[in-house]
Amino acid sequence: MTVPAPCPLLLVEDDPAIAETVTYALAREGMITTHCLLLQDARRQLEHQAYAALILDIGLPDGSGLDFCRELRQQAATATLPILMLSARSDELDRVLGLELGADDYLGKPFSPRELVARLRALLRRSRQMTAGPGAPAPEAFVHDLAGQRILLHGTALALTRMEYGLLACLLEHAGRILARDYLLDRVWGVRADSADRTVDTHVKTLRAKLRQVDGRHEYIATHRGMGYSLELPQQP
Ligand code: CA
Repeated sequence: MTVPAPCPLLLVEDDPAIAETVTYALAREGMITTHCLLLQDARRQLEHQAYAALILDIGLPDGSGLDFCRELRQQAATATLPILMLSARSDELDRVLGLELGADDYLGKPFSPRELVARLRALLRRSRQMTAGPGAPAPEAFVHDLAGQRILLHGTALALTRMEYGLLACLLEHAGRILARDYLLDRVWGVRADSADRTVDTHVKTLRAKLRQVDGRHEYIATHRGMGYSLELPQQP
């Protein structure tokens, strides 16, 4: 039995031979993999596409996978993205650090493709159970598929950028409550607030347009002048 991935997997690995082996092994299991050589490419990919999981090498030409892992965990859009770390050194310190920084699992090189597939399957299974279990409530118009990193409105998956996804996930989590721009900037973008920053407003605008495409009868995101935004659900008839 293969485990179909709801979204592609993202692999960040600068060794082409390893990348090819991993991609091939996963393709045999019916899983599609996007491969990046650099962290900067991975960052761009994650902004534009939702991924079911990330396979992340530690030693990369433009930075450390450990730092990248920490960065992803601080952003709402990728806070729960399943991450499997790879390291050339079967170094205990790397393993401990990786897991402490929020990686879900760790594999030391060299590893067999079969072991990688088994670990990844377990990771995706755990991630789905978390989504299905308690702790991921969402107002009924919306379904938040954490494992697939996507949100459905009335059963239709919204085509969101990474930041729009993070923003909506955050609003859903606190539905009905007013969230200040500063709070959203910190939670979704992981940056300190700057009062002149229009980032949140710009993304609320594009997010509203996408929600309207699926359901034009209700304005889901309310603006509270001088305070922030809230997610408002339609009144029950
Ligand atoms: Ca490497």
